[in-house]
Amino acid sequence: MASNKKLLILPGDGIGPEVMREVRRVIDWMDRRRMVSFDMKEDLVGGAAIDARGTPMTDATMESARAADAILFGSVGGPKWDKLGFDMRPEIAILRLRKELDLFANLRPAIVLDPLVDASTLKADVIRGLDLMIVRESTGGIYFGEPRGVETLPDGQKRGFDTETYTTNEIERVARVGFDLARKRQNRLTSVEKANVMQSGLFWRQVVTALHQREYPDVELSHMYADNCAMQLVRNPRQFDVIVTSNLFGDILSDLASMLTGSLGMLPSATLGAPDASGRRHALYEPIHGSAPDIAGKGIANPLAQILSFAMLLRYSFGMDEDASLIERACTNVLASGLRTADVMAPGTAKVGTSVMGESILRELDKLAA
Ligand code: NAD
Repeated sequence: MASNKKLLILPGDGIGPEVMREVRRVIDWMDRRRMVSFDMKEDLVGGAAIDARGTPMTDATMESARAADAILFGSVGGPKWDKLGFDMRPEIAILRLRKELDLFANLRPAIVLDPLVDASTLKADVIRGLDLMIVRESTGGIYFGEPRGVETLPDGQKRGFDTETYTTNEIERVARVGFDLARKRQNRLTSVEKANVMQSGLFWRQVVTALHQREYPDVELSHMYADNCAMQLVRNPRQFDVIVTSNLFGDILSDLASMLTGSLGMLPSATLGAPDASGRRHALYEPIHGSAPDIAGKGIANPLAQILSFAMLLRYSFGMDEDASLIERACTNVLASGLRTADVMAPGTAKVGTSVMGESILRELDKLAA
């Protein structure tokens, strides 16, 4: 069947190819059962590309990424390549994709699935039913701002410095992603900065407020200082629907929020670029975990973060909400049935490996779609 859905699959290193194999089975299932097909291409990135081609990502792979409607990324890196020079690090692949496709909005859901409510370090009462989304600006701010460096002062001391900078456009485009997401959820957006002590924070707040009045008056907007947000995320995380924030604060708060759920092997993410005139935008989907060299090749990795990243891809790049929900429900049901990979084991559950988990998801999909 001809398909206008161009998908580039980049499994990468370590457990990347192992968990991606399970996504391919879900894609095959969709092809058979849902009559949805993708124009799919698979390629090497990271250490695998260094070994085969001498570079973490070839220009040809970059061209395929540019042509794709969506990219499903595994993970890159591992001890084998740790001693290579700065330009030969496997991570160059993901950094290059983010930079050249201008993927500026990183979306990290923090969802607590009922069967895993005890995996969190927080009390079940605090996190049961948690479903929040953090939108982190990911191409600007202090990680990229100039000037930056280390200088020697007249008295011989040294001084290290970085610069937080944000333009109106950079703030507006990421805030729009937050507002648009809020509209599809509970219609509430919290914008997070440090307007009390940072000029760039005050500016951020003014730009978001003006955008809200101009384009999104129907969305409930609140502002919060980043330090308070960190505290509130631990105290009462369910008060949030969508959070939008800068690169630096988003880096910290999204890691904090993901750990509320207690399980690295379960967490997907998306990074979106700016829409063009036709509404098409580059987008990359990946689990938040790395290549887990300590368990690679053992067949025990949890494939759910990668499968849930694919569900996000269906929802945000192709508007296939129903199929995305079906896959998410299948994951929840399999966990509820008591099957677990080692990383999310709990007393009274049965341990399974990567491929049995994948098979169980397919069986559950069969049931749900019957
Ligand atoms: P990691 O996420 O790979 O692993 C941390 C721990 O979590 C390990 O004990 C691992 O076994 C476990 N774990 C991770 N994913 C799991 C899964 N799906 N199922 C079961 N257990 C899982 O982080 P790390 O050890 O700090 O990094 C390992 C390598 O991955 C490094 O080379 C790092 O640079 C790279 N990395 C890549 C990305 C990326 O490609 N975007 C992101 C993070 C780390």
